[in-house]
Amino acid sequence: MKLSNREENNIKSINIEHTRLIPSEVKKEVWKRDEGKCVLCGDNKNLHFDHDLPFSRGGTSLSANNIKLLCMKHNLQKSDKIG
Ligand SMILES: [Zn+2]
Repeated sequence: MKLSNREENNIKSINIEHTRLIPSEVKKEVWKRDEGKCVLCGDNKNLHFDHDLPFSRGGTSLSANNIKLLCMKHNLQKSDKIG
């Protein structure tokens, strides 16, 4: 029984580490913290959840600290400018 529990935990942590989807719990937290608006301009339309440190560079989707709300405009601007 202990073995199968451990296996289950391993599978869970692997799945979590390799997902770029933001869990709804984290989304809720970010939305609440940023008050449902873009952190840069305060727009409340066309919002996106943006990774501070990109997932491709090891950023996590599991912590609200790494995710913020951006409007579409600022989200696009960010991806145009690297660094
Ligand atoms: Zn904005």
